[in-house]
Amino acid sequence: MPEPVQYRGMTLAVPDNDSEWREFYAHARAHRLVMRRCSACGLMRYPPTHACPWCMDLGWTWQEVSGRGTIHSYEIVAHAIQPGFKDWTPYPVVLVELDEQRGQPTPDEGLRLVANLVTPDLRPEADKNVAIGKRVRVVFQDLADHMALPQFTLTDEPAEGRVWRLEG
Ligand SMILES: [Zn+2]
Repeated sequence: MPEPVQYRGMTLAVPDNDSEWREFYAHARAHRLVMRRCSACGLMRYPPTHACPWCMDLGWTWQEVSGRGTIHSYEIVAHAIQPGFKDWTPYPVVLVELDEQRGQPTPDEGLRLVANLVTPDLRPEADKNVAIGKRVRVVFQDLADHMALPQFTLTDEPAEGRVWRLEG
């Protein structure tokens, strides 16, 4: 098993036999965001589960995606449960809908990832700058030789659809 990784006081360990996440993080370390694409129906999925959630086929290949998307939802963490995040509060956590495969296989579906919203230098983005509809791109936070975390940062592209944030 690769050495466990220390991240903000937490130990992140992905077992050798957990190929779904081990390979995902290794691609991220090479600064590629990848999804599993079903060999039968062609749809991508996230998280990288074993079987296709739509057609149950077990065949798949890694597919690199652009890492560009839109904030679909978010929350502001005011009280961090993990001690390592206490000095980040308040900080945003975002649900990002990737540009690829929006509205497939149904109008309500898409490829969505949860991540931190960070500045380009990987500090937490100010909570006042977060809103549903704002555009983001992936950035990679390198943690070890075999692991990086995909995070997202705001872009200067115009927002999509209705822009909304909780005032206050
Ligand atoms: Zn499928």
